[in-house]
Amino acid sequence: MTATTPATPLAGHLMQGRVVVIDPGHGGFDPGAIGRQSEEARINLQIALALRDWFERAGARVLMTWSSPADIPPNRKYRVEDRVRWINATDGEVLIDIHCNASAGAWGPQVFYWDGTPSRLLADYVAEELHYFTHTHRAVARIDQYVLRHARMPAINVEVGFITNPREERQLLDPMYQRELAWYIFVGTERWFLRSHWPPSLIKAAPPTELLVR
Ligand SMILES: [Zn+2]
Repeated sequence: MTATTPATPLAGHLMQGRVVVIDPGHGGFDPGAIGRQSEEARINLQIALALRDWFERAGARVLMTWSSPADIPPNRKYRVEDRVRWINATDGEVLIDIHCNASAGAWGPQVFYWDGTPSRLLADYVAEELHYFTHTHRAVARIDQYVLRHARMPAINVEVGFITNPREERQLLDPMYQRELAWYIFVGTERWFLRSHWPPSLIKAAPPTELLVR
Protein backbone atom coordinates (compact mmCIF):
# COMPACT_ATOMS: atom_id res chain seq x y z
CA MET A 1 0.00 0.00 0.00
CA THR A 2 3.00 2.27 0.38
CA ALA A 3 3.87 2.85 -3.25
CA THR A 4 2.17 2.47 -6.58
CA THR A 5 5.44 3.41 -8.29
CA PRO A 6 8.14 0.74 -8.55
CA ALA A 7 10.65 1.01 -5.71
CA THR A 8 13.71 2.17 -7.62
CA PRO A 9 16.82 1.46 -5.57
CA LEU A 10 18.93 4.49 -4.71
CA ALA A 11 22.45 4.56 -6.05
CA GLY A 12 25.12 3.56 -3.62
CA HIS A 13 23.75 1.26 -0.97
CA LEU A 14 25.81 2.87 1.75
CA MET A 15 23.03 1.98 4.15
CA GLN A 16 23.35 -1.71 3.26
CA GLY A 17 22.91 -3.84 6.35
CA ARG A 18 22.06 -0.92 8.65
CA VAL A 19 19.08 -1.49 10.92
CA VAL A 20 16.70 1.39 11.50
CA VAL A 21 13.70 1.34 13.87
CA ILE A 22 10.82 3.69 13.13
CA ASP A 23 8.09 4.32 15.70
CA PRO A 24 5.01 6.18 14.46
CA GLY A 25 3.49 7.79 17.56
CA HIS A 26 0.05 6.90 18.97
CA GLY A 27 -2.37 4.62 17.07
CA GLY A 28 -5.38 2.46 17.94
CA PHE A 29 -7.57 4.08 20.57
CA ASP A 30 -5.07 6.95 20.92
CA PRO A 31 -5.32 9.37 17.98
CA GLY A 32 -2.70 11.78 19.34
CA ALA A 33 -3.23 15.46 18.59
CA ILE A 34 -6.29 16.44 16.58
CA GLY A 35 -6.31 18.78 13.60
CA ARG A 36 -9.18 20.26 11.66
CA GLN A 37 -9.45 17.36 9.28
CA SER A 38 -7.17 14.64 10.60
CA GLU A 39 -5.66 12.85 13.54
CA GLU A 40 -2.00 12.76 14.37
CA ALA A 41 -1.63 8.95 14.38
CA ARG A 42 -2.65 8.77 10.72
CA ILE A 43 -0.09 11.37 9.60
CA ASN A 44 2.61 9.80 11.76
CA LEU A 45 2.04 6.43 10.11
CA GLN A 46 1.98 7.80 6.56
CA ILE A 47 5.24 9.69 7.02
CA ALA A 48 6.82 6.70 8.78
CA LEU A 49 5.92 4.49 5.81
CA ALA A 50 7.41 7.01 3.37
CA LEU A 51 10.55 7.09 5.51
CA ARG A 52 10.75 3.30 5.54
CA ASP A 53 10.58 3.32 1.77
CA TRP A 54 13.62 5.63 1.43
CA PHE A 55 15.68 3.60 3.87
CA GLU A 56 14.81 0.33 2.19
CA ARG A 57 15.73 1.68 -1.22
CA ALA A 58 19.11 2.62 0.23
CA GLY A 59 19.66 -0.95 1.41
CA ALA A 60 18.80 -0.58 5.11
CA ARG A 61 16.62 -2.99 7.06
CA VAL A 62 13.69 -1.18 8.64
CA LEU A 63 11.69 -2.33 11.66
CA MET A 64 8.48 -0.53 12.63
CA THR A 65 6.64 -0.71 15.94
CA TRP A 66 3.48 -0.75 13.80
CA SER A 67 3.04 -0.31 10.07
CA SER A 68 -0.72 -0.58 9.50
CA PRO A 69 -3.80 0.69 11.38
CA ALA A 70 -4.78 -2.97 11.68
CA ASP A 71 -1.70 -3.63 13.86
CA ILE A 72 -3.30 -1.94 16.89
CA PRO A 73 -6.83 -2.95 17.92
CA PRO A 74 -9.08 0.13 17.64
CA ASN A 75 -10.04 -0.10 21.32
CA ARG A 76 -6.45 -0.42 22.54
CA LYS A 77 -3.58 1.94 23.15
CA TYR A 78 -0.04 0.98 22.15
CA ARG A 79 1.59 1.78 25.49
CA VAL A 80 5.01 3.41 25.42
CA GLU A 81 6.35 0.78 27.82
CA ASP A 82 5.39 -1.96 25.34
CA ARG A 83 6.91 -0.03 22.45
CA VAL A 84 10.23 0.37 24.23
CA ARG A 85 10.32 -3.29 25.22
CA TRP A 86 9.76 -4.23 21.59
CA ILE A 87 12.26 -1.67 20.28
CA ASN A 88 14.97 -2.76 22.70
CA ALA A 89 14.53 -6.40 21.72
CA THR A 90 15.47 -5.58 18.12
CA ASP A 91 18.99 -5.18 16.77
CA GLY A 92 18.14 -1.61 15.71
CA GLU A 93 21.06 0.83 15.51
CA VAL A 94 18.94 3.94 15.65
CA LEU A 95 15.38 4.88 16.61
CA ILE A 96 13.30 7.52 14.87
CA ASP A 97 10.01 8.44 16.51
CA ILE A 98 7.52 10.32 14.35
CA HIS A 99 4.98 12.71 15.88
CA CYS A 100 3.01 15.85 15.04
CA ASN A 101 3.20 18.89 17.26
CA ALA A 102 0.23 20.84 18.61
CA SER A 103 0.17 24.47 19.68
CA ALA A 104 -1.85 27.43 18.52
CA GLY A 105 -0.07 29.79 16.13
CA ALA A 106 3.08 27.66 15.69
CA TRP A 107 4.49 25.89 12.64
CA GLY A 108 7.54 24.00 11.42
CA PRO A 109 9.16 20.68 12.23
CA GLN A 110 11.29 20.26 15.34
CA VAL A 111 13.66 17.50 16.40
CA PHE A 112 14.04 16.32 19.99
CA TYR A 113 16.46 14.02 21.76
CA TRP A 114 16.95 13.06 25.37
CA ASP A 115 20.56 12.21 26.06
CA GLY A 116 23.98 11.38 24.65
CA THR A 117 26.17 12.81 21.94
CA PRO A 118 25.09 10.34 19.22
CA SER A 119 21.44 11.27 19.69
CA ARG A 120 22.31 14.96 19.81
CA LEU A 121 24.29 14.74 16.57
CA LEU A 122 21.54 12.77 14.87
CA ALA A 123 19.00 15.40 15.94
CA ASP A 124 21.26 18.14 14.56
CA TYR A 125 21.69 16.45 11.18
CA VAL A 126 17.98 15.75 10.73
CA ALA A 127 17.00 19.24 11.92
CA GLU A 128 19.43 20.82 9.48
CA GLU A 129 17.83 18.96 6.58
CA LEU A 130 14.30 19.79 7.73
CA HIS A 131 15.20 23.45 8.13
CA TYR A 132 16.57 23.43 4.59
CA PHE A 133 13.40 21.79 3.28
CA THR A 134 10.81 23.88 5.14
CA HIS A 135 12.63 27.22 5.59
CA THR A 136 11.76 27.07 9.28
CA HIS A 137 14.19 27.07 12.20
CA ARG A 138 12.79 25.47 15.31
CA ALA A 139 15.85 24.59 17.38
CA VAL A 140 16.82 21.08 18.42
CA ALA A 141 15.85 20.55 22.04
CA ARG A 142 16.09 17.98 24.81
CA ILE A 143 12.85 16.43 25.94
CA ASP A 144 12.17 13.85 28.61
CA GLN A 145 9.96 11.39 26.74
CA TYR A 146 9.59 7.80 27.87
CA VAL A 147 10.57 6.23 24.54
CA LEU A 148 13.63 8.46 24.09
CA ARG A 149 14.72 8.00 27.69
CA HIS A 150 14.49 4.21 27.66
CA ALA A 151 15.59 3.31 24.12
CA ARG A 152 18.97 1.58 24.26
CA MET A 153 20.11 3.02 20.89
CA PRO A 154 20.58 6.63 19.70
CA ALA A 155 17.07 8.03 19.44
CA ILE A 156 15.27 11.13 18.21
CA ASN A 157 11.69 12.30 18.04
CA VAL A 158 10.86 14.16 14.84
CA GLU A 159 7.84 16.38 15.35
CA VAL A 160 7.08 16.72 11.66
CA GLY A 161 4.93 19.85 11.97
CA PHE A 162 1.95 21.37 13.74
CA ILE A 163 -1.30 19.57 13.08
CA THR A 164 -3.01 22.54 14.77
CA ASN A 165 -1.86 24.87 12.01
CA PRO A 166 -4.42 24.43 9.18
CA ARG A 167 -1.90 25.25 6.46
CA GLU A 168 0.71 22.86 7.82
CA GLU A 169 -1.92 20.19 8.42
CA ARG A 170 -2.84 20.36 4.72
CA GLN A 171 0.83 19.93 3.80
CA LEU A 172 1.25 17.03 6.22
CA LEU A 173 -1.70 15.25 4.59
CA ASP A 174 -0.28 15.68 1.08
CA PRO A 175 1.43 12.45 -0.07
CA MET A 176 4.05 14.37 -2.06
CA TYR A 177 4.91 16.54 0.93
CA GLN A 178 5.07 13.42 3.11
CA ARG A 179 7.54 11.81 0.72
CA GLU A 180 9.71 14.92 0.53
CA LEU A 181 9.72 15.46 4.27
CA ALA A 182 10.60 11.78 4.78
CA TRP A 183 13.43 12.18 2.25
CA TYR A 184 15.05 14.91 4.35
CA ILE A 185 14.71 12.88 7.55
CA PHE A 186 16.37 10.03 5.65
CA VAL A 187 19.18 12.26 4.31
CA GLY A 188 19.95 13.62 7.79
CA THR A 189 20.03 10.11 9.23
CA GLU A 190 22.17 8.76 6.41
CA ARG A 191 24.67 11.60 6.89
CA TRP A 192 24.83 10.73 10.58
CA PHE A 193 25.48 7.06 9.77
CA LEU A 194 28.20 7.92 7.27
CA ARG A 195 29.85 10.40 9.60
CA SER A 196 29.84 8.21 12.66
CA HIS A 197 30.30 4.71 11.22
CA TRP A 198 32.21 3.62 8.17
CA PRO A 199 30.07 1.26 6.13
CA PRO A 200 31.39 -2.25 6.96
CA SER A 201 31.16 -3.24 3.30
CA LEU A 202 33.70 -0.53 2.42
CA ILE A 203 36.05 -1.31 5.29
CA LYS A 204 36.19 -4.99 4.39
CA ALA A 205 36.59 -4.41 0.65
CA ALA A 206 40.01 -3.88 -0.92
CA PRO A 207 40.74 -0.18 -1.54
CA PRO A 208 40.02 1.05 -5.06
CA THR A 209 43.05 0.29 -7.24
CA GLU A 210 43.50 3.93 -8.27
CA LEU A 211 44.37 4.72 -4.65
CA LEU A 212 47.25 2.26 -4.79
CA VAL A 213 48.97 3.87 -7.78
CA ARG A 214 51.95 5.97 -6.72
ZN1 LIG B 1 2.39 12.70 19.40
